[in-house]
Amino acid sequence: MITASGKPRQRCGSAWQQELAEAITRPEELAAALGLPPERLAAAISAARLFPLRVPRSFVARIRRGDPDDPLLRQILPVSEELAEHPGYGADPVGEQAAVRAPGLLQKYRGRALLITTSTCAVHCRYCFRREFPYAGQIGDGPRWGEALAQIAADASLEEIILSGGDPLSLSNARLAGLSRSLAAISHVRRLRVHTRQPVVLPTRVDEGLLQWLRSASLPIVFVLHINHPREIGEEVGEACAALRATGITLLNQSVLLAGVNDDADVLEELSKSLFRAGVLPYYLHALDPVRGAAHFAVPDERARALAGALAARLPGYLVPQLVREMPGAPAKVALAARL
Ligand SMILES: *Cc1c(COP(=O)(O)O)cnc(C)c1O
Ligand code: SF4
Repeated sequence: MITASGKPRQRCGSAWQQELAEAITRPEELAAALGLPPERLAAAISAARLFPLRVPRSFVARIRRGDPDDPLLRQILPVSEELAEHPGYGADPVGEQAAVRAPGLLQKYRGRALLITTSTCAVHCRYCFRREFPYAGQIGDGPRWGEALAQIAADASLEEIILSGGDPLSLSNARLAGLSRSLAAISHVRRLRVHTRQPVVLPTRVDEGLLQWLRSASLPIVFVLHINHPREIGEEVGEACAALRATGITLLNQSVLLAGVNDDADVLEELSKSLFRAGVLPYYLHALDPVRGAAHFAVPDERARALAGALAARLPGYLVPQLVREMPGAPAKVALAARL
């Protein structure tokens, strides 16, 4: 792109990299774009000092202008509640530091391990359980993946590797393809999973290079998307999902149950139906991880169970996500029983 001054903004880079670089990071700009009241702007400026604002313009376009309580806005707008301390809410809410096996490699569960591939996300979700993750010490970057890959190669029980972050699709297609080739060369690795929010918040990320990688990868690939509200699934997201599906990968979704966003049976029902229309099956509905700054998103367990019960009573079983909570030290995500 050529800027007003006539200088190219980025010398080499695809459309999505350009969009990533042009994400909104200044609360003032977001407030002006959406017509937010001045007190919301002041709060956003303070709260963004702890965890910066970041949101791609294509996601902002899905937010209703003039509605400070819009469920999409609530996920990305820094608010004053983030500054309050709450007992039980901390920096490492799910015991990740105890699960580190090598720099960037976390294992909690049998047969699968998670690789922190990057600290970069297209969007900063205010409830993120890795808001305070010490990425600097963990990022396997370039040669530093070496130790994680060596650990994976040495442990024949690891059948599945999960690319996480940050958002792994922040990496270039070439780096993703290179990493997946290294993993495919380890004979006991049978599945590659990618946890990503980018096809939703930055649908241009699903470009020809990414699709090419997915079509040619030798390992079966599962994408677990992260969509919390049906209004996140606009036309472009639908097209991105269809293109992903056409490569033959498996598409699942995980949501976080968030007060004021999706703690409503109608919204969750519509989310499952919209996901299905986009070719995505619901996988998990996560109870909020108690990370510092996110307590205002918590939904009481009793309410969560009632919502899960309502979904089960309304939808076929394959459209009902499993309501789970991550418990430090547990051998799997722990199911919260639905109240029927
Ligand atoms: C959530 C998580 C997984 C994935 O769990 P599944 O139940 O397989 O989806 C794997 N490793 C870690 C460290 C996790 O936190
Ligand atoms: S995309 Fe995922 S890792 Fe990134 S801020 Fe959102 S929840 Fe956290």
